[in-house]
Amino acid sequence: MKSIILAMVLMAANSDAKDEMAKVAVCLNYESVEFNEAQRARLVASQIYAQIGVKLEWLFCGSKRDGDVVIWFRHKAPNDLAPEVLAWALPYEGKTIEVFHDRVRQSTHSYLGDLMGHVLAHEIAHVLQGIARHSQSGVLKPSWSAKERLAMSFRPLQFTQHDAELIRQGVGARAGKRASTLAASNSRP
Ligand SMILES: [Zn+2]
Repeated sequence: MKSIILAMVLMAANSDAKDEMAKVAVCLNYESVEFNEAQRARLVASQIYAQIGVKLEWLFCGSKRDGDVVIWFRHKAPNDLAPEVLAWALPYEGKTIEVFHDRVRQSTHSYLGDLMGHVLAHEIAHVLQGIARHSQSGVLKPSWSAKERLAMSFRPLQFTQHDAELIRQGVGARAGKRASTLAASNSRP
């Protein structure tokens, strides 16, 4: 009897955890991208993260706080940047991403907003994982084939299980850091 009660309590705890998704705040600096493209990109990136229990909260960069992820949309990639690079992130700095509109546009095989959403999801993952690494498949592959870029308009790519775990760990660590910073600033006289 005791074990049945324990099982029920555990199930309740699990369902609460599912409802409460980990949140990450992301702001977009629009230098070059069309509003509709950016809207679609945000939607696709949000869908990809929702699959692993992480909610992306999009906000205006004017209202961002320390620790939020910041994405810059650049009109044109620097001339000396390797031609296959669509965007980059600074995983060890932990917040800055640059996306090059001209590069994403040149490599799209379907609707630009869909590829852009995957690029955002990929770079945000680098920042959240906090280490420079890639995976053999899925969203965190170093580059997607033409077939994958076409398919992502029908169904978004997914993170591997290992990527999802590293992302959730990173999100948890960032939330803990923010909470301790807030506690420190509240305790000031
Ligand atoms: Zn990458």
